[in-house]
Amino acid sequence: MYTFSTIKNLQSDLATGNTSCVQLVNQTVQFIEEKKHLNAFLEVFNESALAQALLVDEKIKGKTAGKLAGVIIGLKDNICYKGHKVSCSSKILEGFESLYSSTVVERLLSEDAIIIGRLNCDEFAMGSSNENSAFGKVLNPINEKTVPGGSSGGSAVAVAANLCHVALGSDTGGSIRQPASFTGTVGLKPTYGRISRWGLVAYASSFDQIGPITKTVEDAALLLEIMAGKDEFDTTASQKKVDSYTSGLSEDKKFRIAYLNECVESNGLDPEVKKQTLNALEKLKASGHEVTGVDFPFLDFLVPTYYVLTTAEASSNLSRFDGVHFGYRSPNATDLESTYKKTRSEGFGKEVKRRIMLGTFVLSAGYYDAYYGKAQKVRNKIRQKTREILTEHDFIVTPSTPGTAFEFGKNSTDPIKMYLEDIFTVQANIVGCPAISVPNGMHSNGLPIGLQIMGRDFEEGNLLNLANQI
Ligand code: GLN
Repeated sequence: MYTFSTIKNLQSDLATGNTSCVQLVNQTVQFIEEKKHLNAFLEVFNESALAQALLVDEKIKGKTAGKLAGVIIGLKDNICYKGHKVSCSSKILEGFESLYSSTVVERLLSEDAIIIGRLNCDEFAMGSSNENSAFGKVLNPINEKTVPGGSSGGSAVAVAANLCHVALGSDTGGSIRQPASFTGTVGLKPTYGRISRWGLVAYASSFDQIGPITKTVEDAALLLEIMAGKDEFDTTASQKKVDSYTSGLSEDKKFRIAYLNECVESNGLDPEVKKQTLNALEKLKASGHEVTGVDFPFLDFLVPTYYVLTTAEASSNLSRFDGVHFGYRSPNATDLESTYKKTRSEGFGKEVKRRIMLGTFVLSAGYYDAYYGKAQKVRNKIRQKTREILTEHDFIVTPSTPGTAFEFGKNSTDPIKMYLEDIFTVQANIVGCPAISVPNGMHSNGLPIGLQIMGRDFEEGNLLNLANQI
């Protein structure tokens, strides 16, 4: 049995013949089978993974293999891989096959990664617990009575339970960082535009970013380096040069770090999470960083702003699932209009419908200015204030989530309670800045706690450096 530690170590083990890609694929498939009850994988791509493994083993022998040779990667089920199914964990896309690969998949494959399968998530990436999947909940391997977080719950669980080496998730309001925090893994949401969204099924296009969930910061840095950069298929992908995130990782840098007073004083914050966060800040101070508390008067506006704007964008993005273009078509339809109505009524789950309705409402003629227009203005205020803090300070540090992983069903009957799980993570998506969640010790309930760091746009290098120090 091969025990994975980091991609770098894996590369040397493959080069010296300690393991092979075929062996790694076989072993992973067996692990996934043994841990089937976690429900992290919706599908294992046995055949294509094994075919790629054979190919890459040959390349390793010929010393022509890429930087991700033999790295077993799981994909959140909203990232397209040509010739493979993608469903967004929704009945409306059940059985649908991608016609092209996302840019991230192309870039990973070109470095000889092996894509092992697609991972369960909340339907259309809407949720914070993975309870909104049409294909069943995902269990948190650390305590199977608790949720793994969402929406990239399958991705975080697959990494935490060793069912792949690294995984990709998408983050619109915390969907990479919150499950990372709940499972003791590292989750990175890059700057908006750092990674191409081509081939990511859109939820809220001005918020969505793809990013890695990994065991180490080092692996996150390498994956970002490979996936980031301009892309002719996505005009929102930045033209900015991609830094070598891996090379500066262990430099001993000292930073100016801010924490938000309102955040550590917030009512909903678990006392132990608060204590661990303050401990981490103390440690940073002790190791020579400057640590300052700053005021951020907009904390209570983050979640409402996020949910008005993202539901508006979702109502538009999801209009394409109509029973004509994609996936499921209701067999009970009799004409065009009933095709739309029945397909969407039967195909979408409850939370997705709630958000489409809310989004349609905030965009409707009589309410546009009062809700959508106003939320856009608030988004600007939040952006300005956050950027102001990030001018005087290099980073903003917060807990990743107000508490640890919660039990199944705990927040299911109250959407507002569930939405408040996102209070610390949505800021980075509203602003567009990069953010990472790293493990920050354990709670007395035996579950991991996460620490979030937000940084300046396109300064992932420093962000990863600090994350690595922590
Ligand atoms: N939990 C948030 C939501 O339900 C974030 C989702 C995401 O980042 N995709 O919208």
